[in-house]
Amino acid sequence: MEKKHISRRDFLKGAGALGAGAAAVSLLGASVFASGEADGSSSASTSSGGGGGGGGGGASGSSSGEVVVANSTEERVFGYAGPGNWLGTKPETPIVSKTMDCDVVVVGLGHSGAQAYLAAAEKGAKVIAIEKHPEDTHSWYGEDFGCWNSDVQVNQAGFGPYDLGEVVDEFITRGGGRSFPEIVRLYVHNSGPTMDHMLEVAKEMGVDPRVYTYDNTENGWLIIQANFDYDKWASGADIYDCLRKDYPIWPGTKTWAASCQFMGEYNDHQISGVAANSKIGLVQQACLDKATRDYDAQILYNTSAYVLVQDDDGSVTGIIVQDNESGEYIQINTTKGVVMAGGDYCSNPDMCWALLNEYMERNERCGGTKARFKGSDGSDGYAIKMMCWAGGYIEPAPRGTMLLGGGPSGGPWGANSMLWLNAEGKRFANEGNITAAATACSRQKAGRACLVTDKKWFKGVCNSGLEHTGPNGGRPQFYQDMIDGMNALQPGKSANIIGCTLAERMGGSVTCANTLEELAEMMGYSGEAKENFLASVAHYNELCYAGADTDFGKRACAMIPVDEAPFYACSGSVGSFSASPSMVTMSGVMTDARLNVLDLNRDPIKGLYTCGNSLGGRYGTGYSTPCAGSSIGMAGTHGRLAGQFICEDN
Ligand SMILES: Cc1cc2nc3c(=O)[nH]c(=O)nc-3n(C[C@H](O)[C@H](O)[C@H](O)COP(=O)(O)OP(=O)(O)OC[C@H]3O[C@@H](n4cnc5c(N)ncnc54)[C@H](O)[C@@H]3O)c2cc1C
Repeated sequence: MEKKHISRRDFLKGAGALGAGAAAVSLLGASVFASGEADGSSSASTSSGGGGGGGGGGASGSSSGEVVVANSTEERVFGYAGPGNWLGTKPETPIVSKTMDCDVVVVGLGHSGAQAYLAAAEKGAKVIAIEKHPEDTHSWYGEDFGCWNSDVQVNQAGFGPYDLGEVVDEFITRGGGRSFPEIVRLYVHNSGPTMDHMLEVAKEMGVDPRVYTYDNTENGWLIIQANFDYDKWASGADIYDCLRKDYPIWPGTKTWAASCQFMGEYNDHQISGVAANSKIGLVQQACLDKATRDYDAQILYNTSAYVLVQDDDGSVTGIIVQDNESGEYIQINTTKGVVMAGGDYCSNPDMCWALLNEYMERNERCGGTKARFKGSDGSDGYAIKMMCWAGGYIEPAPRGTMLLGGGPSGGPWGANSMLWLNAEGKRFANEGNITAAATACSRQKAGRACLVTDKKWFKGVCNSGLEHTGPNGGRPQFYQDMIDGMNALQPGKSANIIGCTLAERMGGSVTCANTLEELAEMMGYSGEAKENFLASVAHYNELCYAGADTDFGKRACAMIPVDEAPFYACSGSVGSFSASPSMVTMSGVMTDARLNVLDLNRDPIKGLYTCGNSLGGRYGTGYSTPCAGSSIGMAGTHGRLAGQFICEDN
């Protein structure tokens, strides 16, 4: 065992040099124990908030002040299993051309930063926000905002109120116990008031009323993801009277009508592009405008955060930013600190390869390379690295992305709880437990898969949960269009049926047949696989008739037999090793329940707060969520709280 007795701050400096020196400097054969830890007798604590923590090569998290170097046979960042030095070296302090003073700096004006900016300003702080994009090209992703018990949901639309403890527990269960209950609770309990406030501001700022008024007719812009009451619909009720109000819908895991969707105008055709008609940006822009107009708040666009300023005990006292046009650096001194709202790391292949361990493994096994292992452009993880350089650390593995894991395509119905069969024609999971079933899909032998249903397909849709990518009848005309499309589909044919899944007007191919045998053949099953297919459907029907899924435990409400012609199927595939970081990564820096960033001793670093996709502890295993839109919902909610907490705590 080799020991080095250095302070955490010294260690970080050394680690920086190590990062720059690349693999040759890796510390072969060394151990990771602080003095006394090897024999289980850990010694006393160092001061909190020092510059160590997750730094490149980083400190051990020892509580003795004595730090021992990492055990490493390959270059990696201390404390993280994945390969490569994704963290690099904390930048040297540059020469600054001017200084500014304020109470709070907010870095990034996405969904989280916009709310942090407004909230801190409302608290009376002098706020400066830093956004790297120029004002005219800055925009917001998406259209769904997952929230709970807001006025628009409960009083305008009649959904809820729901038991919030039950919701928190569902998040934690879906995340395999890996998300942090306090972080999830902060979101679930404060998301409704956050939504209410955002819509009040939109109204006050003169935004088109359709943005803040629930209206699920063809004329409305704001709807809530919901499902239909099948029996009501079957009895011939008007489609606008058919929305289910009895949540949670619970085929395996629980879902609620929780996603406020800024869908924009109705369209009777398939739309390509995610969130193509979204109006959510109008709400966020109104929030920025109110803060700037009514309070002591200003935005520096086209300016990038560069490095945090810390005093000797590690407290964050300001930030150095760079004007992207002139290249000049500005130091902004703060009385309260900095809220980091700079998003995730999905466009940074080094970080994705090292940190998304499950997906990296899958990708490598099918020939993927680090260079190509990245998601949407724009989220380079720099804000997260800044917090690690300041002593913070990224949450423990497993670290996920916005992926559910693959599976049979649900055609126009998306992720749903109907019968799924694998390439061998066998059922393999509880299809109602979407988060787990998706993982089960990715672990099947690679090949085709299909979803099988029958004349009662719409009953199956109505008994499916409101998953992210699940069915959505929140705007009933979309379901009507889908029913019309299905009614026109003839046996012996396949057709693209336009439906609505999540918040998208997407289509999916559905195949129709008069018999199950014919259907199996049309879906490409032959020989033993076809026999299995038919046997699996027959066995599934027996379970349905008996009213209990004694194989996998899907709840009886979703056990609908496949026994009435015409029969339908949607094709897909299972077992692909391939996985990409997708739209956003779902892991970030650890904080306490005040969103105050923690060092490796789990002590808060004074003056450093985070929210949105830079915040850790939100999800356990990828997008483990019981509602669509929880990513933006959390960003907005945690953003608002971070803006409030930094003012209240400092
Ligand atoms: C196409 C698409 C559609 C989506 N749709 C949905 C949806 O409908 N519902 C949902 O819940 N989720 C959705 N998501 C995910 C969701 O958009 C994100 O989770 C959410 O935007 C996170 O908000 P954020 O504030 O943490 O980060 P971001 O929205 O990424 O904002 C970060 C901001 O920080 C700025 N920034 C970064 N680094 C710096 C720096 N160094 N200096 C200054 N500024 C910096 C960036 O320019 C950016 O403006 C979607 C994602 C994509 C890609």
